[in-house]
Amino acid sequence: MDSLLQQKEEMIERQLRSRGIDDERVLSAMEEVPREKFIKKDLVEFAYRDAPLPIEEEQTISQPYIVALMAQILELEPSDKVLDVGTGSGYAAAVMSRIADEVYTVERHKVLAETASKRFQDLGYDNIFVLHGDGTQGWEEHAPYDAINVAAGGPDVPEPLKEQLAEDGRLIIPVGKEPRQQRLVKLNKADGEIQRKNLGRVQFVPLIGLSGWENEDRESDVKSKKPAPSKQSLPDMIAGEAEPFSDIDSAELAPLLERIGDSRVVLLGEATHGTSEFYRMRSRITRALVEEKGFNIVAVEADWPDAAHIDRFVRDTNVELPTQKPFTKFPSWMWRNEETKDLISKLRLYNDTVETHDDKVGFFGLDLYSLYSSIDAVINYLSDVDPDLSELAKRRYSCLTPYENNPARYGAAASSGRFRNCEKGVVNMLEEMLENRVELTTHDGDKYLDAVQNARLVANAERYYRSMYVSSNQSWNQRDSHMFETLQALLDYENSDSKAVVWAHNSHVGNAMATEMSGRGEHNIGQLAKEEYGDDTYNVGFGTDHGTVAAASMWGGQMNFKDIRPSLDDSYERVMHQSDVEKFMLPLRDKSKTVIKKLEKSHLERAIGVIYRPETELQSHYFQASLPNQFDEYIWFDETKAITPVETSTAEGEDKMPETYPFGV
Ligand code: SAH
Repeated sequence: MDSLLQQKEEMIERQLRSRGIDDERVLSAMEEVPREKFIKKDLVEFAYRDAPLPIEEEQTISQPYIVALMAQILELEPSDKVLDVGTGSGYAAAVMSRIADEVYTVERHKVLAETASKRFQDLGYDNIFVLHGDGTQGWEEHAPYDAINVAAGGPDVPEPLKEQLAEDGRLIIPVGKEPRQQRLVKLNKADGEIQRKNLGRVQFVPLIGLSGWENEDRESDVKSKKPAPSKQSLPDMIAGEAEPFSDIDSAELAPLLERIGDSRVVLLGEATHGTSEFYRMRSRITRALVEEKGFNIVAVEADWPDAAHIDRFVRDTNVELPTQKPFTKFPSWMWRNEETKDLISKLRLYNDTVETHDDKVGFFGLDLYSLYSSIDAVINYLSDVDPDLSELAKRRYSCLTPYENNPARYGAAASSGRFRNCEKGVVNMLEEMLENRVELTTHDGDKYLDAVQNARLVANAERYYRSMYVSSNQSWNQRDSHMFETLQALLDYENSDSKAVVWAHNSHVGNAMATEMSGRGEHNIGQLAKEEYGDDTYNVGFGTDHGTVAAASMWGGQMNFKDIRPSLDDSYERVMHQSDVEKFMLPLRDKSKTVIKKLEKSHLERAIGVIYRPETELQSHYFQASLPNQFDEYIWFDETKAITPVETSTAEGEDKMPETYPFGV
């Protein structure tokens, strides 16, 4: 026991005094009440930890600091009559009872009310009175109260509590739109008027009752002795909310376009890099955005020079192209597929109907894995328009030449400090090209944009390969920052009313703040776009339960058609599957809807990239996320098929096969 006393002393100093609890009455009450008597026996050793602890009925005993803080904010006086809503273990009521005259405490769980009552008796605290009931209605019989303490979070301050507050009374309550995330709010009543002050963020269990949240399924309510009213399951609610469609070509897009409204950026995700339905649906949406809303940029998760081949065809530009054939490096199937070809030819057909070059829709790459073809592109461009600068570019970029076969080795070499670091040269190159914009664009705007983007890619790729040796999250961030920078450069370059559709994996498109990634300090295009454009960005996620997918087993490996396993329990995919709706669009922005609230609770989510390893699916492909905070909309295909690759081998004789154009260029 000695050690508990000692721990209590330490708690007072380290958790309370040092954090600004200086009301001596509160401190001595915290010293008097034995917290170990308010928790289960097997947790006694944790009694003075700086944390809430579990109690019966899935509730918690508050963290000591929070109890002290709330008591201090309530400015308790010895003559006060206090109402405490949410008795829980009884600990907070006990602490307040050591300062105030009387404490009336209300708890909705019978077991908790009874256990607390017994504890007060055992400790001889005879100025605490316990009621089993709904504390959102207060305890009218003994009102008014000088202080009201609410230890559970509601959507707002319950009216009955305001009414039961005495003149000069103080009330403190956690309030928030989410059942488990709130801000602490303090009310003061003076001359019958209520003043409200917001304090910091807190996290309490939900306040459930007539003037609080509705009962949650899993909680055994005060009234739960009666059979529970039949509740809709989450999959049923999804089925009710979803906009089903029977096939991609005939899907009704008008409601989605309406929701997209005037957004400037629409991000279209994918749950795998090899699913036909995702490409085809994104293609339909993209064409609608181009044709009906004037979107003029399609920016995809591909390297800039590769996409430049496509753009040259789509917009019929005369940008010089790198000699390397596009999309021949791993993972070639990601863009070298029939689905992409179809999109490209449709964009070209559209552009053929557009008169001015500036109004045509362009196709661009956001990624940065083309260091050396980008270097070539910058040098070639400059050799035509500014031979001196071209010579300088050659010298600066030669710093990276030794690593051409394996640019990742550059990162290791530069980080070791024993080899040259090429940063300065590549950054200067980009800056000078940006500075010379006016002069250079007199030659040809499209060519200039292409060259600057290649210079930007070289600068960012240089940093990317170096950051790989610092940490994987830094290099991830470096890559996504590059993608976002490129997107912004495109939006700025084209004109002030240009609008962009982005095609990238869900993991780039869904706001990273709503996934495990944020815990690792990683951001992505989805997050950066939300931060920059707010609701003018519309993020769409895609998902599937089972089917086939084009993927490799390891980086650089061969592409295979693999079976996608049916989704795991506890995943978003599983609840979508259980809705029994084969294909649908599900708007996620309206957080006031019950179905969205339920979906906000974190679930597993599956991500299949260019690699799929079904054997270790849980570890390698699932992560935690909150879907409605990640995306504005989710598009579901219960069963999916792999994309159809355009065989690279036919590329051999492609000069004679114009049907493979533009891949064959
Ligand atoms: N002060 C308590 C904290 C308990 S947690 C302690 O130190 O132990 C909050 C408690 O509020 C839970 O026990 C929960 O069951 C209860 N609660 C939630 N809504 C309630 C309501 N409407 N009326 C009474 N109690 C409620």
